[in-house]
Amino acid sequence: MAQNQPTSIRATHEPRYGLPTVDPHAESDHRAATEWLNTLLVPAAHELPSNSEYLAHLDAAAADRTLIRLASNENTERPSPRVRDALVQAYEDANLSPATVPPLRLALAERYGVTSDRVLLGAGSTELIEATMRTFLRAGDEVVLPAPSWPVFRRRLDALEARIVEVPLVVGEHSYAYDVEQLVRAVTEKTKLMIICTPNNPTGNSLTVADVRRCADVAPLLLVDAAYADFDPDVDLSPLVHEYDNIVLSRTFSKAYCLAGLRVGYVVGAAAVLDYVDRFLVPGSSISSAALHAGHAALGDEDYHRRQVERIRRERERVLEGLRGLGLRAFDSFGNFVAADVSDRSGGAPMFAAAVRDQGIVIRVMGERLVRITVGRPEENDRLLSAVATVTSAR
Ligand code: PMP
Repeated sequence: MAQNQPTSIRATHEPRYGLPTVDPHAESDHRAATEWLNTLLVPAAHELPSNSEYLAHLDAAAADRTLIRLASNENTERPSPRVRDALVQAYEDANLSPATVPPLRLALAERYGVTSDRVLLGAGSTELIEATMRTFLRAGDEVVLPAPSWPVFRRRLDALEARIVEVPLVVGEHSYAYDVEQLVRAVTEKTKLMIICTPNNPTGNSLTVADVRRCADVAPLLLVDAAYADFDPDVDLSPLVHEYDNIVLSRTFSKAYCLAGLRVGYVVGAAAVLDYVDRFLVPGSSISSAALHAGHAALGDEDYHRRQVERIRRERERVLEGLRGLGLRAFDSFGNFVAADVSDRSGGAPMFAAAVRDQGIVIRVMGERLVRITVGRPEENDRLLSAVATVTSAR
C-alpha cells in the first residue's frame, strides 16, 4: 500500500497504481473507502448524481425486451441497410486506428461548405459538447443555461463547478418558448458561454434563426445543441457557422440516422475554436472506425433519412393529438419526442411514468411535472396511446 494512504483502508484486492481497490459490495469496506475517498475527491464529486440512476430506464428496457422503449429519444427503427454493409466492410480495417480526417469528416465539411478543420467528429455529440465546456470553463466560470433543458448540460457543468445562470423557459397552455430577451439580458461581462438547445429537449420548442443570431451577438461563445434539428427542417442553422466565429453547432447521428448505439456526433465551428476543443479530446481515442464507416454510409442514404424524418414528424403530430385527446397537457414539439405536464395527476410525472410502464412502455420522467415520450413506429405509438388511455381512465 502506498505510504500516504490512511491506515484505516483495507485493500481487498491487490493494490494497483498505489491505490487499494475495494469491493464496493462489501458494506464495511465501502464505509472505510468513503473516508479515504472523501479526502481525495474533487469537491464536485460529492454532489454529482449517479449516472446509473440517470440511465436506469436503459437497464429496465434491456432487462425486459418486451417493453417498448420510448424513453431515450433514440430512433426505434434500424439504420439504413447501407449501414449494415458498411459495418461488414468495417471488419476489414477494425485492427487499424482511423485517420484524423476520415471520409465522414470530409463529407460533412462538404455539406456545410467548410474546410475539414471546421468539423470535429466525436463518439456522440455529447463528447464534443463536454469537451467544448472543458475548453472554456473552469470552476466559477459563468454559463447562461436555459431551464428546463437536457439534464446532461447541468451535470457536466456541475462536474466542472461552473457557475450556472439559469434562464427559465416560458410555458403556455400548448407550448414552451425560450425567453430570448432574458437570455440576452443574462449575459454579463463575466459570461463565458451560453448554451441553447434547439429544438429543446425535453420541451420541444425551437428557436428561429433570427433568435439564435440575437444570442450569438451577445454571448462570447454560443454552443448550439441541434441534436433534434433534423425534425425541424424549416429552421436551417447551417448559415450561422459562416456568419459567426463564436458559434459551435453540435449535431448527432443518434436520432434521425438511427445510430445512437454506435456513437456518432459532430460539431461545426471556427477552425481556431475547434482546434482548442480537439485538444480536450483524448488523442486517437474517440469515435471508432466502425462508427465512422456507419456514419458515412448513413449520411449517404438521403432517402432513408428523409423517410425517417417524415415518419417521425407525421407520427409526432398524431401522438400529440392523441395525448391531448386523452386529456393530457402535451406540448408542441419540433423534436422526435413529445413532453406532457402531468403534475395535475396524483404522484406527478414519476407515478404517471410508472403506470405507463406497467402497461409495457418505458417513457422518461423529466422532473416532477414532465414526462417525455419518444415518437416511435406507428404500432408503438398506438400501444403508447392505448396505455395512456388505460392509465388516464383508471384515475
Ligand atoms: N443533445 C441533446 C439535447 C440530446 O437529447 C442528446 C441525446 N439524448 C444528445 C445531445 C446526445 O447525443 P449523442 O448520442 O450524439 O451523444
